[in-house]
Amino acid sequence: MNRLVSGVLWLLLYLAVVTLPLLLMLVPPVPTGRGFWLELSVALGFVGLTQIVLQLVLISRFKSLSAPYGIDIILRFHRQIALVAIAFILIHPVLIIVDTPARVKLLNPLGGTWASRTAWISLFCLAGLAVTSLFRLRLGLTYERWRLLHLILAGGAIIFALLHVVMAGLYTNTLWKHAVWVLPGGALVLLVLYTRLIKPGFFPDSVWRVAEVRPERGNCVTLVLEPDGHEGMSFAPGQFVWITLGDRKITMQENPFSIRSSAARPARLEFGIKKMGDFTENLPHVKPGTRAVLQGPHGAFSIDRYPAVGYVFIAGGIGVTPLMSFLHTMADRRDPRPVILVYADKTLEDMAFQEELAELESRLDLEVVYVPEKAGEDWQGETGFVTWDILERHVPKDLIHREFFLCGPGPMMASLHKALKAAGVHQDHIHLELFELV
Ligand SMILES: Cc1cc2nc3c(=O)[nH]c(=O)nc-3n(C[C@H](O)[C@H](O)[C@H](O)COP(=O)(O)OP(=O)(O)OC[C@H]3O[C@@H](n4cnc5c(N)ncnc54)[C@H](O)[C@@H]3O)c2cc1C
Repeated sequence: MNRLVSGVLWLLLYLAVVTLPLLLMLVPPVPTGRGFWLELSVALGFVGLTQIVLQLVLISRFKSLSAPYGIDIILRFHRQIALVAIAFILIHPVLIIVDTPARVKLLNPLGGTWASRTAWISLFCLAGLAVTSLFRLRLGLTYERWRLLHLILAGGAIIFALLHVVMAGLYTNTLWKHAVWVLPGGALVLLVLYTRLIKPGFFPDSVWRVAEVRPERGNCVTLVLEPDGHEGMSFAPGQFVWITLGDRKITMQENPFSIRSSAARPARLEFGIKKMGDFTENLPHVKPGTRAVLQGPHGAFSIDRYPAVGYVFIAGGIGVTPLMSFLHTMADRRDPRPVILVYADKTLEDMAFQEELAELESRLDLEVVYVPEKAGEDWQGETGFVTWDILERHVPKDLIHREFFLCGPGPMMASLHKALKAAGVHQDHIHLELFELV
C-alpha cells in the first residue's frame, strides 16, 4: 500500500478509536437527567484517557505504523498529543464543578470518594510525566532515569485512571463496559512490555556480535557489527537502530545510532559514534565478540524515499553518519547522479571519515566540501557557517532542483532550513534528521 494511503488510514483509525468511547456512552443503560457541562466533562475525560492509553501503541515501534511517517514523527506526535490529552483530562474536573459547584470538595485529594482519590493519583502521575519530559535536561535527569520514571508514571497514570473509570461507574455500570476499558488497556501495557523489553533480547535475528571497534578523528569510534547466526538486516540508507550491548536479555539500556555503512551490505553494519556520555564513552573498551541486540531499522530519512536529479547533503559533526550511508550505498549501486556533501564542524581535525570520503569521491560524482568553523592560515577552503552562498559556489547549475538532506545540531539545521526556504527550495525537497528524540 502506498505510504500516503496507509498514513491517512492510520490517522483515521486513531480518530475512530479515540472517539469510540463517546459511542459507548450512548449504549444503555445510561444515566439520565444530567446537564450539558457534566456530559461534556465525561466525554473529554474518556477521550483524554483513550489518548493516553493509545500512547502505548505509539511507542511500541510497530514498523507498519511508523513506516508511512518515520518513527521520529510518531514520537513527536506522541509528545504533542500527550499535552492535548492532559488538557482534556484537566478540563474534566473543572467542568464537573462548573456543572455542580457543590462538587468543589472533590478538589481535596485526601477527601472525597475513592473514585476521586484515584483520579487525583492519576493526575499527579500525568503532571509528573509532563514536567519530567518537558524539562528533563533542566531537572538534570539522565536519559535512562527519565525513561524509567516515564514508564512508572505512565503505568501509574493509566492504572489509576482506569480504576477511577470503574469506580465512578456512571457510564461503566455493567460488567462488559468495565471489560471494554480494562481489557484493552491491560493488553496494551503487556504488549509494550513485550515489544520493548522482552522481544528484542529473545528474537534470534536481532542478535549481533561486535566485530571491531576502531578509533576515528574527532573523539569518535567506528563500531562494526556482524550477524550472529542469521543473514543480517536489510535497511534503507539513512535508517537507524537501537543498540543494546552485553549479555543481559532484559535491560533498559538502548541507544539509537544511524547505520553509516552501505545498505547493499546487510551482513556488516558500521556505526560512527561520538563520545557523549556513559554508553558512548565506554565503547572503546568493548571487546570483539560482545553480544549486541539491535532493534530496527527505523526512520524515514532516506534517499530511497525521494528520487531526485541530484543531491545536496549537509552534515554538522557526527550528523555525517546517515549521509555516509547514502554515499556508500550510492557507490555500491554505481549511482551516476551528482552529489555534494557539505561537512561542517569546529575544526578540520574534528571531522571523521576523511579517508573514506576521499575514496567515495573517486567512485561517485561527488564533491566533498569541508567547512571548518575555524582553520589555520594555510587552509584554502571554506570556513565559518554553512550558507546558501557556499552551496551556490559549488553547485552553480541545478542547485534548486536537487533534494536536500540535512543532519546536524538543532541550531545549524534551523538556520539552514530557513536559508534554503528563503532561497526558494520547496519544503518537500528538504529532509532533516535530528539526533534527539527527547
Ligand atoms: C535517530 C538517532 C540517530 C543517532 N545517530 C547517531 C550516530 O550515528 N552517531 C552518534 O554518535 N550519535 C547518534 N545519535 C545520538 C546518540 O543516540 C546519543 O549520543 C547517545 O545515545 C548518547 O548516549 P550516552 O549514554 O553516551 O550519553 P548520555 O549523556 O546518556 O546522553 C546524551 C544525550 O543523548 C540522548 N540519548 C541518550 N540515550 C538515549 C536513548 N536511549 N535514546 C534516545 N536518545 C538518547 C539524550 O538526548 C541525552 O541527553 C543518534 C540519535 C538519534 C535519536
